[in-house]
Amino acid sequence: MSDCIFCQIVEGKIPSSKLYEDDAVLSFLDINPINPGHALVIPKKHVTSIFDIDDETLQKCIVVASRVARAIKKGVKCEGMNVLQNNFRAAGQLIDHFHIHLIPRFENDGFLTSWPGKPYEPGKMEEIYNAIKQNL
Ligand code: AMP
Ligand code: ZN
Repeated sequence: MSDCIFCQIVEGKIPSSKLYEDDAVLSFLDINPINPGHALVIPKKHVTSIFDIDDETLQKCIVVASRVARAIKKGVKCEGMNVLQNNFRAAGQLIDHFHIHLIPRFENDGFLTSWPGKPYEPGKMEEIYNAIKQNL
């Protein structure tokens, strides 16, 4: 897609710090990292999100993500890593080309230190469970 920044990176029209590349997948450093070494893994073909990516492409991306994650861990000596993947604006997706974030983490680095979970109201969990289950 000509107006997609990540497609332009794939095509070499926008520079990137490429970490890994094969026929289907590209990984490069995020230009605005949460921590140094924050990288992205993308399919070379334009797909928007988890909702439209095909199984084969997704498998290729996650295998590369695992490989790059190990290299980041060794390279920046991080103490942990978040693997994040945002879909649509409500979830923080700014670039509409599927991408997996690999975010190296360090103790007390201040990012995502707590997870604001909230319990279901009585009966709600079963209702939600059924609403999802019937679509699988
Ligand atoms: P998201 O909010 O999940 O869509 O994340 C998009 C990510 O892409 C952000 O973390 C940006 O910093 C990153 N980003 C945007 N433009 C570029 C670029 N040209 N090269 C590398 N990373 C980029
Ligand atoms: Zn694209």
